This record gives sequence, C-alpha cells and structure tokens, in this order.
Amino acid sequence: MPAFNPQTAPSRWALLLVDVQHDFVDGSLAVPGADRLQGPLSQLLSSSHFSQICATRDMHPADHISFASTHAGHEAFEELDVPHPARGSVRQKLWPDHCVAGTRGAELLGVVKQGMQEAEQRGVECVEVHKGTDRQVDSYSGFVTAQDVLFSPLAAALFGAHVTRVLIAGVATDFCVRATVLDACRFGLRPLVVLEACAGVEEAGTQRAVRELSEAGAEVVQSVEEALEKVQRDLQRA
Ligand SMILES: [Zn+2]
Repeated sequence: MPAFNPQTAPSRWALLLVDVQHDFVDGSLAVPGADRLQGPLSQLLSSSHFSQICATRDMHPADHISFASTHAGHEAFEELDVPHPARGSVRQKLWPDHCVAGTRGAELLGVVKQGMQEAEQRGVECVEVHKGTDRQVDSYSGFVTAQDVLFSPLAAALFGAHVTRVLIAGVATDFCVRATVLDACRFGLRPLVVLEACAGVEEAGTQRAVRELSEAGAEVVQSVEEALEKVQRDLQRA
C-alpha cells in the first residue's frame, strides 16, 4: 500500500472539535466565554466542506491523577510533580474534578451531538475520540492518550479517511486546543484554528498560545465565516 502523504494528496478537510463538553462550558471547569460557542460551532457543523468530523472528549475515572481531590493537601490550579508510568515523574497542573466518565459533565454539548447526527445523515463520517481514560496519566492533545507515550485513534481515523487538513475549534485554547493543534502540525495536517469557536482558561496564556500556534505553522483566523471561506478556496483549488 503506498504511504498516504497529506502534503501532496488532494485536499480533504476534517472538522476537529476539542472537548466541547458540559464541564468545560457550564460545569465544574467552565471556561470563560465557552457559553458563546454554540452559534459558531453550529455554523461549522452544518457546513458541507468537511469529509469527516472528529470530536475529542476528556473522559476521566473518578480518581484521576489530574484532579486536585486525588492529592490530599493540594488545591486546584496548583502544579505538582506526579509519578508517570513511562517517564518517572511529570509536572501536572491540578484541576477541579471534571469530565468523569458516565456523568453529564463528560457529555458533549447538545449542539455538537445534534450537529454530528445531522452530518452523519448527510453521509459525513463522525468519530469520537476519548482521552485521559487511564487514571495514571493526563492528556491534553486529542492525538495522544498518555502525554507523548501512546497514540489515540485520532490520527489513524484522519489518515484512514485521507484527510489532508483540519479545522480545529473547542476548549480550552491554552490547554487541549493548543496541544491538539501542535500535534496536528507535527502530523503535517496544516491546521486552521478559528478563534470565534474557541475559548481559553486564562487571557494571557491564551494570547501566548495563539502566538505559539502561528509560529508552529498553524493558520489562525478570527471568524467562522473567514475560516469556511478559506476551506472552500482550498477545496476549489484541489
Ligand atoms: Zn481532563
């Protein structure tokens, strides 16, 4: 089988939504501004430009390593050195309990569920990828399940569908969106990030992340309209 090369193959776009889950929007770890994402996300999900839609979900056991409640005497938003099965020890930011498997907080927002169902009816392949499922390791990127150690099924799903580029949106810009975009750059998927459909935890960290993503080769645009025009132009050129 010849190798698939996203740099030279005909253009095919996937929409990649990062962690659009209740806990990050209106739950235990609500990201400021995430409540204004429904309109932009719905606009993206109803676009006919995407061959595939992927949604990542943070999906933790109740005693996950990233929860402050797992570490007696420590508070949310502190950083702590924690043991890592493959690396000895890693620096982990602690969070309030969030996205525990089986809870409402771990569910995708209704707008995403519905948008994916409707897209599936139009014949678009929809893929859900879970991360953070192992209690011992955290993962911000949708491409990996255990820091840089294990891959999630995301890259295989994208390359299996001959996707060459990804439009990325979701939460949080300065954590899971950032890590997912950086990995998409490494995989040669030339990500396009649309800020109107993203929200960040901290203002300064978010601005820093946006600069970092541009420097890593991601294209960053403000509005969904501008992003969809870019996708359309790219598809027409193909
Ligand atoms: Zn998490």
